Amino acid sequence: MSTWRQARAESVVDTINPVLKNLVWPSPSDETPFWKKEFPTWDVSVELPADVEKDSDLMHIIHVTAEMAPIAKVGGLGDVVTGLARACLARGHTVDVMLPFYECIEKQHIIDLTLITTYNSFHDGNWILTNAYRGEVSGIPVIFVEPSNQFFKGKYVYGGSYDELEAYIFFSRACLEWMQVTGVQPDIIHVHEWQTSALPLLYWDMYHHLSLKRPRITLTIHNMEHYGECRQEQLSKCGLDGAIYATTDRAVDDRTIGHNPERLSLLKGGIVYSNAVVTVSPTYLKETLCSGWLSSTLIRNRDKYFGVLNGIDPAIWNPATDIFLPVKFNAQKLEGKKFCKNYVQKGLGLPVESAGRAEGKDVVNGTQQKVPLVVCITRLVAQKGLHLIIHAIKHIEELGGQMVVLGKAPDDRVEREFKDLADLYNEGPAIRILLMYSEELSHMLYAAADMVLVPSLYEPCGLAQMFGMRYGAVPIVRRTGGLADTVFDIDDHSNNHMANGFVFEGIDEGSLNWALDRAFSLYKNKPDEWTGLVRKAMERDNSWNNTAGNYIEVYNSVRVRDDSS
Ligand code: ADP
Repeated sequence: MSTWRQARAESVVDTINPVLKNLVWPSPSDETPFWKKEFPTWDVSVELPADVEKDSDLMHIIHVTAEMAPIAKVGGLGDVVTGLARACLARGHTVDVMLPFYECIEKQHIIDLTLITTYNSFHDGNWILTNAYRGEVSGIPVIFVEPSNQFFKGKYVYGGSYDELEAYIFFSRACLEWMQVTGVQPDIIHVHEWQTSALPLLYWDMYHHLSLKRPRITLTIHNMEHYGECRQEQLSKCGLDGAIYATTDRAVDDRTIGHNPERLSLLKGGIVYSNAVVTVSPTYLKETLCSGWLSSTLIRNRDKYFGVLNGIDPAIWNPATDIFLPVKFNAQKLEGKKFCKNYVQKGLGLPVESAGRAEGKDVVNGTQQKVPLVVCITRLVAQKGLHLIIHAIKHIEELGGQMVVLGKAPDDRVEREFKDLADLYNEGPAIRILLMYSEELSHMLYAAADMVLVPSLYEPCGLAQMFGMRYGAVPIVRRTGGLADTVFDIDDHSNNHMANGFVFEGIDEGSLNWALDRAFSLYKNKPDEWTGLVRKAMERDNSWNNTAGNYIEVYNSVRVRDDSS
């Protein structure tokens, strides 16, 4: 039985009634908000699924990454690294993650943290004393790299008061240096985004000429917008000669040609120097070949460029076992979901219709009027369709629904704009805008929601719609990138069997209204059809069980099978 089905059969959902007896309903006046209370185990002990079929041809993969969920997660990159690593471990492969030892990492979430290596790694003419620690997070062995300088110090993963570009170039070299010092030679070094894209350059032009012979490099691009613009002398600080990469067939940023000085793009260098390049959905792959300044580089490297849809981790994201949910549920037993909705509504001071009964009902033309709850959980950046999120707030209020936005804005101007909206709406009966990051609350909101809104202008893959579906929130999305690969409109009759949500095309308010209006109408007028849609969305397997095999194929296409390389 697959993990997915096993999860559906979890007996834990049968224990709803005893849980309810002891359930303490939250309120906005609680001293500790409901999402900040103590949870039994966080996620550190999430076990790997035992029933996954093992691969016969096993390999060693090391991810070198700036993010890893849940300890150092800012967006989807963190989820992808953790989910993919766990899926490959479950299939029998050896997997490690190498991560900067950010000062903000909460050490209590790491099991068996131990100092394993003290070594020197190069930066700007000096050898920096560096510690490598080993520990376990979510069942994955992790090597934490901690330089003795100021890099990676601060309260957050990004935005510390050090030069981020130089810190990640240092980290890229420090990971290779650690492999060289310890003699660890994985089959695959899997780098992610611009932050670790200097590693392929360092590997092929430096460490491969030293003792590292076996590894081959896979680069995953999670978002083409961030390309690691870099001055030649900044790259030179890692010991490479930055000037030799300033050519169109290597790493020059094509948009800066003719400028003084011309700049490099670490991401472009990563594309050129990696053995395989993956982006996170088939539609985003097509989009990036057709537009954007990197398209010519991607076209030149087309034969090693793949589109592999991200998955979600079926154990970490499982409403039948999720430790953050006050009441568990699954596609067969949905009552728990109603209690999660009531729990969140009470905790945020939103009006509540009682779960399962018609208390407080408003009868219009014989139809019980219900209030759908829409959530939008996102980084508040232009890519995510900020004007559409703001419009949705107004329109959902007009439609008589409720909406919760959970988001953090890295840009002060955007933060202020949403803060003003929060001041305007948060005392009212329909809308809550919460400007913060909370992993715990995000789980509860997906579980509470009837609908999850993802109105992105572009979206390489998008995980929010997949988490939403897994937790029974019907997705309302713009047709772009991975959203187009995972959500299919219920009124698209050419594709009825896949239909699982509401999709709109345009970036104008009218297009969004059209999708929201149809969703609200179905929710209010055809409750049985709605419940069927919820079940269908929950039962769709968006997990890594489905897609990790595509990564294994990519790895296999580039790895070497003996030491003669
Ligand atoms: P991106 O990687 O562009 O941020 P994705 O949809 O791929 O977008 O992944 C976003 C991830 O970050 C999801 O796991 C989402 O739940 C989470 N997330 C985004 N903002 C917040 C927040 N403010 N609090 C908690 N989780 C968040």
